[in-house]
Amino acid sequence: AETVLVRQQSHEELCKVLALNKAAAAHEQKLVVVSVSPQSRASLAARCKLGLLETAQKLTTFLKGLGVHHVFDTTFSRNFSLLESQQEFVRRFHKQAEDKKALPMLASACPGWICYAEKTHGSFIIPHISTTKSPQQVMGSLVKGYFAEQQHLPPDRIYHVTVMPCYDKKLEASRPDFFNQEYQTRDVDCVITTGEVLKLLEQEGVSLSDLDPAPLDTMLGRAAEELSSHRGGGSGGYLEHIFRHAARELFGVHVASIHYKPLRNKDFQEVTLERDGEVLLQFALAYGFRNIQNLVQKLKRGKCPYHYVEVMACPSGCLNGGGQIKLEGESSKEELQQVERLYESLRAEIPEENQAVRELYEHWLGGWGSDRALQVLHTQYHAVERASSALSIKW
Ligand code: SF4
Repeated sequence: AETVLVRQQSHEELCKVLALNKAAAAHEQKLVVVSVSPQSRASLAARCKLGLLETAQKLTTFLKGLGVHHVFDTTFSRNFSLLESQQEFVRRFHKQAEDKKALPMLASACPGWICYAEKTHGSFIIPHISTTKSPQQVMGSLVKGYFAEQQHLPPDRIYHVTVMPCYDKKLEASRPDFFNQEYQTRDVDCVITTGEVLKLLEQEGVSLSDLDPAPLDTMLGRAAEELSSHRGGGSGGYLEHIFRHAARELFGVHVASIHYKPLRNKDFQEVTLERDGEVLLQFALAYGFRNIQNLVQKLKRGKCPYHYVEVMACPSGCLNGGGQIKLEGESSKEELQQVERLYESLRAEIPEENQAVRELYEHWLGGWGSDRALQVLHTQYHAVERASSALSIKW
């Protein structure tokens, strides 16, 4: 199963599809869409010594030169993941008295963590995991749903590729939950890592710096003039967004700035909201396997004090993912800092204020919290019997 996965999800596979597309009759050609993660862009920018906007524009030129039709940014779909996570947390908070597993809510955007949870502590942990889809899989739903409709194409006529900072995203895209039975197509057909994009550039003999910039595409048809990001760090900013939203919605508190308190190490930090000495909200970040194991043990002993935990498998989070480019001649710490500096240099957007996101909620999803939004933007998890598992997890 793993060999098939590696073959289906590689830059070689993308090249094969692009070559077949060029040779095919017009009515058989696929519309090729590539969605690039902001973590990958930061890694490429650091490697090519370019700004983030230039990197995005030149990467668009490169990919379109290969035969790709549209290049999107998964920061857009992350708005939906953040908004849905915020609302899901508030729903769970209200349910905690009648449902003991409603809290803590655990983040769901990291497939390394999800695989581990399903395989090792399945039915015990699963109810705690947020059902909100990751930005990659929300992008899959948007591209094969909304965008396909706009293009008057069935979902299987679109070939959707994502560029991600880790290999585990390939596993995520291959989950049966993200396979459209009616059209026999996946929401994300192929995932390539940032390192594989570099291999593609090398294979084509192209240096990103030498290319002309191209305008950036957006799903709603208007060209994007600038890039934006979200506050709260390189793993998506889930903790910060949910914390601010919950403080406002549940306790009427406007949080001006967030203070992270390191616990055992920099990959295990805590954030609390207190009023008159009473803890109203207690959130944590737990990155890396050791901290995750520690969290799971706390949960099992009924001693986990948190309402929400942003769980990520990689130490330092997604900017340090295994699929990122290793910079030459720099120590790994400096190289990570460089990628972090670039990543954090963008304007931070507030998901609630994004006009295009509002329009999609209103016109395509039928409003905030609608049944359709739940159906399109959420997923489920499955306890996996250890003995029958075909996947292996590498930490
Ligand atoms: Fe991938 Fe690592 Fe981010 Fe998890 S933390 S999504 S494994 S890069």
